[in-house]
Amino acid sequence: MKAIIICYHCVKDEMNSYLRPTTVSDFDRQMQYLSARYCPMSLERMACCLRDHTPLPPRAVAVTFDDGYQDNYINAYPVLRRYNIPATVFLATHFIGTGEIPAWEEGYYTGKKALMLSWEQVREMSDGGVAFGSHTLSHPFLTRIPRKQCEWEVGRSKEIIEQQIGKPVTTFAYPSGDFDSQTREIVREAGYCAAVSIRAGGNRPGDDIHALRRNVIQLKSACHMVFPVSFVAELSGAVGHVRDSYYRVRKIGVHDGRRALVDGAP
Ligand SMILES: [Zn+2]
Repeated sequence: MKAIIICYHCVKDEMNSYLRPTTVSDFDRQMQYLSARYCPMSLERMACCLRDHTPLPPRAVAVTFDDGYQDNYINAYPVLRRYNIPATVFLATHFIGTGEIPAWEEGYYTGKKALMLSWEQVREMSDGGVAFGSHTLSHPFLTRIPRKQCEWEVGRSKEIIEQQIGKPVTTFAYPSGDFDSQTREIVREAGYCAAVSIRAGGNRPGDDIHALRRNVIQLKSACHMVFPVSFVAELSGAVGHVRDSYYRVRKIGVHDGRRALVDGAP
């Protein structure tokens, strides 16, 4: 059986985001389901097992979050604690504790509170067992910037997070899932043990540890009228495969432009 990695962005009931947030009740139901039917484990441990060909438990799943939204602390963290589910949050450091918001949220986010995490919240979650990985400094398309800049985005973000939490940062998530052989090498040489994409599917021992597959959970809440069928379809990568095929048929680059930000993943 393949090891599953899933990806969330926002977990909140307000729909004031460019992305499609997972509602708090949907997230609670999904985590309850994982804790009862799957074997949640940290991405770091899963990656080590995949790398070393150590057998994984059946139904192994790792939960991750991209970008560093504050709702991860407010809404997701208590649920993760309730069900004792490990998680990894990938931070784009320019948005953490600065008041800066990602470009894709401009014109969409209407809340009064900060949109992104503060370093205090990051440290509190870290102390509580949540792992943090890098999602670069400024969330660029890594294949479209000069090599030196790519190295800086990948390496400096690691240092900043390590300084803030006082722990090694060993995992990386490619912004918008955008990577090629050169960016993959830069990530590996920067010292990351593992990196995740947003290519749908599961992972087997021997797969490229710096290009792990990950399934984005983003079906509309209404689709969960047929829970858990809908969630299992997302977990398995089936929904992601359909989405990827749609992009191919429409000749839309998964990581190109506006649609990628809505349906792919910042
Ligand atoms: Zn992102």
